[in-house]
Amino acid sequence: MMTPMDTGQSLQPIAENLYTNDLSTSIKVTPLGAGQDVGRSCILVTLNNKNIMFDCGMHMGYQDERKFPDFCYVTTMGSLTEYIDCVIISHFHLDHCGALPYMSEMIGYNGPIYMTQPTKAIAPILLEDFRRISVERKGEANFFTSQNIKDCMRKVITINLHQTTKVHEDLEIKCYYAGHVLGAAMFHVKSGQQSVVYTGDFNMTPDRHLGSAWIDKCRPNLLITESTYATTIRDSKRLRERDFLMKVRECVERGGKVLIPVFALGRAQELCILLETFWEHMNMKVPIYFAAGLTEKATNYYKMFITWTNEKIKETFVERNMFDFKHIKAFDRSYIDNPGPMVVFATPGMLHAGLSLQIFKKWAPSPQNIVIMPGYCVAGTVGAKILAGAKRIEFENKQVVEVNMKVEYMSFSAHADSKGIIELINMCEPQNVLLVHGEALKMKYLKTKIQQEMGINCYDPANGETVEIPTEISVPVDVSGTLLKNSLESCQYELTVGSDHDSKKVKILHGTLVMSATALSQPPIFKIVPPELAMEEAGIRQHKIKYTTTLRIKNVESLSNRQISEVILKRIDSKIKEKGLSDNSLTLGNAMTVSDRLNLDTVPRIASDSRVNVGNCYVQLDQQETGNYRDAYVAWYDQDEALGNLLVEALSEIENPSI
Ligand SMILES: [Zn+2]
Repeated sequence: MMTPMDTGQSLQPIAENLYTNDLSTSIKVTPLGAGQDVGRSCILVTLNNKNIMFDCGMHMGYQDERKFPDFCYVTTMGSLTEYIDCVIISHFHLDHCGALPYMSEMIGYNGPIYMTQPTKAIAPILLEDFRRISVERKGEANFFTSQNIKDCMRKVITINLHQTTKVHEDLEIKCYYAGHVLGAAMFHVKSGQQSVVYTGDFNMTPDRHLGSAWIDKCRPNLLITESTYATTIRDSKRLRERDFLMKVRECVERGGKVLIPVFALGRAQELCILLETFWEHMNMKVPIYFAAGLTEKATNYYKMFITWTNEKIKETFVERNMFDFKHIKAFDRSYIDNPGPMVVFATPGMLHAGLSLQIFKKWAPSPQNIVIMPGYCVAGTVGAKILAGAKRIEFENKQVVEVNMKVEYMSFSAHADSKGIIELINMCEPQNVLLVHGEALKMKYLKTKIQQEMGINCYDPANGETVEIPTEISVPVDVSGTLLKNSLESCQYELTVGSDHDSKKVKILHGTLVMSATALSQPPIFKIVPPELAMEEAGIRQHKIKYTTTLRIKNVESLSNRQISEVILKRIDSKIKEKGLSDNSLTLGNAMTVSDRLNLDTVPRIASDSRVNVGNCYVQLDQQETGNYRDAYVAWYDQDEALGNLLVEALSEIENPSI
């Protein structure tokens, strides 16, 4: 960034300073989770000697210690609080925040945690749900408590969309809309000259309840992006929706039961809106249920955070709340064994625990029924197993379930597909891309595509693997306002008088780079100033290249030098007008010294010795005032070449000077 400087400052070059400063030239990234994997997002990033943790998630595919990130990787010396400058949580999904209370309350981290307001409101509900299932139903020990969740949430600092928050003097965060789920955000983190964007999970296409992700053209050194659908280009949303509705309808019409495992918030709301509209339209009577309590809670959050939803919902909210469903009723566990058709939305989305799994176990043996998986399933979950075609599922307690029901997968999960990921890369123009939150093979494919087709370096580290991404150091330089102004003016002059008529062409700025003295511990300050100023400050006389030529003006018998000078000046002035220039635009030569410039207004246009001054150039007549002709001596400096040419042209056009 160029800023005009105070030209009166003393300038003294001290080159040593440049080398005494520790300029960290790379950004380090270590995934503790989500490295060549989906689940347990936790990415440690070091930029400009600051350590940031993006997300702190759990893995739904594991029951053992692998479910949480291994925080030993972070530092072997001292506490996490000393090492980590801040933790940033992208959204409320447990694979992005599920390990947060464990890290802050059990391992011990007291530093700042940033997230958006909806995330802060919804995350504790999902964390509590997760805790209850793990501790009360599965009997897991060494787990965080309800109090831990509350204490953890007290450490959270909320951040608004497009708001820049300073973690401390040299570390700032800006937050952008990510679509995906209510409150999901992407984060742009800057420190010193380095910057990183972390996408979390995002969606580039708006859906029935949320808008699409958007980010500034912020040109970060590194973009860390999710790549769940790295190899997929999804078909049109309308087709997918129609397909979904047809499958549901077919099943209930032949008396079957439809199970739709969902996350509590997100796809659930979208699919509810879809079914509600269809039921109304088709006048269907088959009951639709949603796991008790959740609809109401969810609706309240959408009401509270209406600004985070999409335009249509915001608009219609005044007359009708899109989440007040007429056909969708609260579900009770006792309905599981009810006879006849029904549609049930139940959590969790990957059938790894809870009510959705309980219903699945009951309904799976009947070929009349169908389970529709509307989102991605992490490896190891029951959801992933049945999608892979498993016909028998064995559980820990030796219970075996035969899967005879139809299993359908329909990608309604709000992740960007490969087209969307590329769209985001084009949107923010990063220097490097790093893929996380995807399967290894799919990542490889997208990595190659990004490198070959976009010419951008791309990385895909595995968990625990550190990549170092070199960044260029740029030295910020101030430019004096006078120099900028003068250079711009001479560009303007070149445009109108000179041969260069391309206004968009890069123009060269001539100046002298000086490094100013600061304290040794501080980086030096660089400035570009007019060369003459630098020379004056340093006590150096400027060496100028002067061009001269002599032209003969004929038929001047009866005229004095003063009179001839007036003719010359008149001719020059009309030449200036002819070219459509102002007198001012001619006094621009860079060869002028500062004192020349200051004196410009006081220099007479015709001096006492009849010398004609035009800016920094002049025309001097032969002192001998006799004879039929007078020799005119024209002088200009190399920087004033165009003006010099104009003078020569003007003089050679004078044939019969007369007053
Ligand atoms: Zn997510």
